[in-house]
Amino acid sequence: MSDSTHKTRMASKKAVMDAKIAKATEERGVLILLKGNGKGKSSSAFGTMARSVGHGKRCAVIQFIKGRTETGEFKFFKDHPQIDWHVMGHGFTWETQDKTQDIAAAKKAWALAERLLQDDSYDMLVFDELSYMFKYQYLDVNPVVEALKNRPKMQNVMITGRTMALPLQEIADTISVIQDERHAFRLGVKAQKGIEY
Ligand code: ATP
Ligand code: MG
Repeated sequence: MSDSTHKTRMASKKAVMDAKIAKATEERGVLILLKGNGKGKSSSAFGTMARSVGHGKRCAVIQFIKGRTETGEFKFFKDHPQIDWHVMGHGFTWETQDKTQDIAAAKKAWALAERLLQDDSYDMLVFDELSYMFKYQYLDVNPVVEALKNRPKMQNVMITGRTMALPLQEIADTISVIQDERHAFRLGVKAQKGIEY
């Protein structure tokens, strides 16, 4: 491609982008869903949270499934003055196999989430694995949708989980699907600190 063709193309691209930017004028918080079977949902949410923290924003994380307690992200963020980090009561369901206990823990975590969704001093909330609560019917999705709709105008919320309940998708502003094309685990590589947790 000649230099002048490149220049003309870039100029028209810039005009299209500038027009799009001029049209996006609304200022409000967004609901972001990160779903799919690939690796990168929680780490993307925490990465975006780090971005917010860098700008002085106040954030909270609720992990609806407690896996390993000592994840790198927990160790890194837990004492940060702008971050409140909450882990739901107990371990993996397939380890505990106690549905009553799971539901009680889910309800407790949701009660906290609901409070945070009414508190405009939080700029960003991360609900890690919230979607899992609907898949296993530990929580009813309707009150969650209502609470998300009624949250403070500038509050951003990120929800992660492999599958996402449709009512959440209907009210979301951004939905990204992390596709699983390949994962080292299936090549026989052991889960490692700093990559998996
Ligand atoms: P990450 O926390 O690395 O961003 P994730 O949130 O997208 O991962 P989860 O479904 O929450 O994925 O699973 C968490 C753990 O399982 C991580 O240790 C991750 O590396 C691993 N994992 C994620 N996707 C896959 C996959 N497709 N195959 C095997 N292991 C996976
Ligand atoms: Mg995750």
